[in-house]
Amino acid sequence: MSFSSLGLSEQLVRATTDQGYETPSPIQAQAIPAVLSGKDVMAAAQTGTGKTAGFTLPLLQLLGEKPREGKGPRALILTPTRELAAQVHDSVNLYSKYVPTKAAVVFGGVKINPQMMKLRKGLDVLVATPGRLMDLYQQNAVRFNEVEILVLDEADRMLDMGFIRDIRKILALLPAKRQNLLFSATFSNEIRTLAQGLLNNPVQVEVAARNTTAEKVKQSVYPVDQSQKSALLSKLVRDNDWDQVLVFTRTKHGANRLTKKLESDGITAAAIHGNKSQGARTRALAEFKQGDIRVLVATDIAARGLDIKQLPQVVNFELPNVPEDYVHRIGRTGRAGESGHALSLVSADEGKLLAGIEKLIKKQLPRQEVEGFEPQNNLPLKPKAKADPSRARNRSGGGGNGRSGAGRPGGQRQASPGAGGRGRGRGQGQGRSGQRQSA
Ligand code: AMP
Repeated sequence: MSFSSLGLSEQLVRATTDQGYETPSPIQAQAIPAVLSGKDVMAAAQTGTGKTAGFTLPLLQLLGEKPREGKGPRALILTPTRELAAQVHDSVNLYSKYVPTKAAVVFGGVKINPQMMKLRKGLDVLVATPGRLMDLYQQNAVRFNEVEILVLDEADRMLDMGFIRDIRKILALLPAKRQNLLFSATFSNEIRTLAQGLLNNPVQVEVAARNTTAEKVKQSVYPVDQSQKSALLSKLVRDNDWDQVLVFTRTKHGANRLTKKLESDGITAAAIHGNKSQGARTRALAEFKQGDIRVLVATDIAARGLDIKQLPQVVNFELPNVPEDYVHRIGRTGRAGESGHALSLVSADEGKLLAGIEKLIKKQLPRQEVEGFEPQNNLPLKPKAKADPSRARNRSGGGGNGRSGAGRPGGQRQASPGAGGRGRGRGQGQGRSGQRQSA
């Protein structure tokens, strides 16, 4: 199969050839003809599948069929983070190299005036984060009356970050007659509700079974006590000679602490999270991409939309509280045909989180202990089918195999308040204010 056999013009095919793409990825093979047909599309696609080209190429072709009449935009692409917006904009520029389509990007954290100037000059494709787009609209810098195509990219992330109100406001301002494309890595009930109100008889595109993890990614679990995790990570980085590893922590504070610890072990590292300025985040990412720092420590929100080519190694220093975030995290490795390795350092108090992840991805992850780091508190090998937590606690207290981990009193209690920290309610508030702060 080739890009031209999907119905794309010679100019667009040439742009993909320039990028070194030989064949369309599975999501592209399905999404490109669907979008070209003019229908609404609902696509289940993770980052790394080539989804950006999957919607951008046909969108450019459709826009190329007739010239712009006013100042545009004619296509609106909404993304949850500035990083993703910038990347999508870069992709639009690459793919539109041989067509006259004009594109721009707007997001928070930078001056609004230059963005207003760009909008005034007229454009076809606008890539935007929802908060800044609403600010621009309220200042009369953008109109939506010419929008023909709307793309919601990483829609699940947008909802997690609390953008639903801005999205609904924007939707209400768009012309009723338009084509809608919704891309999401996961499909929660919330996303389905949004999709029902937004999409009209959509073509459904799904490359891998829902919520399954990228096949090319080798996944393993290293059981280890919480107190030993940073020492184990330093050892793994050194022993394996990892020179580009993305490490996830649950909290901003944890990210800072781990970065300091790695540096004191002589490993170059930087943290990116919501408390860092846009400048600091961009700098850390650039240094990581260039290979100046070996370890980038990130929280889930900060890591969204990071496109780092061929990232070989992802480490979960702590498991995420929301199982779907695991799928997102490991989607950072093994991108577009590359193989990758996602490794999770899991302590006994995270047993329940691990069970939730294994249930979601429908497989048990192999456990592998590292010599010298064998945990005192062991992880349950298999999530017990219908374990009664109170009985489990009693048993572990009574000895059994002598390891008390699975039911360590307070173990799960420790995890739970953490879960609250990123539970839907607060997660939204944090995400939203994080974005707006810098918007
Ligand atoms: P995305 O999922 O859109 O973030 O794309 C992930 C990466 O895959 C990007 O770095 C793209 O440049 C790359 N890519 C997209 N389509 C293809 C393709 N057909 N062949 C090879 N690489 C691709």
